[in-house]
Amino acid sequence: MKYLFILVFFLSFTFHAAATAVKIGVLYGNTLNEINAIQSAGHAQIYFDSLLYFSTDTSFNLKISADLDSLTIFNGESKIARCKTIKIVGDADAVTQLKHAHFKHEKFYGGELHFTSNRGFIFILNILEIENYLPGVLEAEVGANRPPEYYKVQAIICRTYTLSHLRRHEMEDFNLCDKEHCQAYKGYSKSGTEIQKGVQKTKDIVLVDNDFILITAAFHANCGGQTVNSEDVWNKKLDYLRSIKDTFCLHEKSALWTKEFSDDTWIQKMHQVSKAYKHENDSILLVQDFYFLQDARKKFYDVNINCLIPLKDMRTMLELKSTYFNAVYRNGQIILHGRGFGHGVGLCQDGAIRMSKLGYNYKSILHFYYQNVSIVNLEKLDFFKFDE
Ligand SMILES: [Zn+2]
Ligand SMILES: [Zn+2]
Repeated sequence: MKYLFILVFFLSFTFHAAATAVKIGVLYGNTLNEINAIQSAGHAQIYFDSLLYFSTDTSFNLKISADLDSLTIFNGESKIARCKTIKIVGDADAVTQLKHAHFKHEKFYGGELHFTSNRGFIFILNILEIENYLPGVLEAEVGANRPPEYYKVQAIICRTYTLSHLRRHEMEDFNLCDKEHCQAYKGYSKSGTEIQKGVQKTKDIVLVDNDFILITAAFHANCGGQTVNSEDVWNKKLDYLRSIKDTFCLHEKSALWTKEFSDDTWIQKMHQVSKAYKHENDSILLVQDFYFLQDARKKFYDVNINCLIPLKDMRTMLELKSTYFNAVYRNGQIILHGRGFGHGVGLCQDGAIRMSKLGYNYKSILHFYYQNVSIVNLEKLDFFKFDE
């Protein structure tokens, strides 16, 4: 009964979140003390400290400048207000451009934009429906020119991630930031594209485990032929993140890599990786008399069975593309022949793209990379909730 209560509470939280908007911290961590907000499409209402200042159907160009705890707003060169908060509330078609000389690319946002000063830096929230947010995530995380079916796969993954991480920035009073810390988000995404269609055709669809809990839908660029058990990277065993053999990604660009180290550098780096290695063991580090081979993925670099080094630590310290490599010693060099790119857990993007091109549908692709999961509509979860 207690379990049911927890489940019902969780589902009600999930559905509520899906039906409402998400608050995204955009240009998160910026050090800008002024920015221009320009209406690029649609109609918007502008609020200074919650008071409607004006409603516009013509284009506006506001310069917003931050001092320690407030904002000053200029229209052209003339100062029009000073306040704590500015809100731009657009209609369904409204798009606002944020402009600064330092931006390499143009930045556009739909939905609402809220501005405050964070100790002199402009702090910006973009508030919008999750289904309008996801295309901007796919644009940033996946990019253009992918097969249509693959956009459905990635839309379901990113929707699941969003709903299971709504509390990531709870302390700062928003849901997710627009950096890789959460999910990269590019802002407004043009309508009518394959990305938009991928999101729309999978509206409200998410991945859940056997307990109807949203899964950690991990993904990476290329697994090199075999994915990794979750506990080998994050110390947490999840039943749906199991190692599988994957032949779909083998012929892609990031399937193979090599990296060489001089023996001095190698020894120095290995001491950094593992404090357990003492200098009297240095000869062992050189793999001179043997090879380190991974026919299948291993968890440890096991050339010295008395000192097993987690491959995930080597990947970080040696800045390797993956943990899936063989090591050989040749002419004073340690040569690593590696496969794959990324942590290797969950869905392999290169493999999933290849499967999409071969005609597999999004359901088969998701079930191939995530074990024992269900692909469900949030509305069904809600039905389940009321059914209790
Ligand atoms: Zn974040
Ligand atoms: Zn793969």
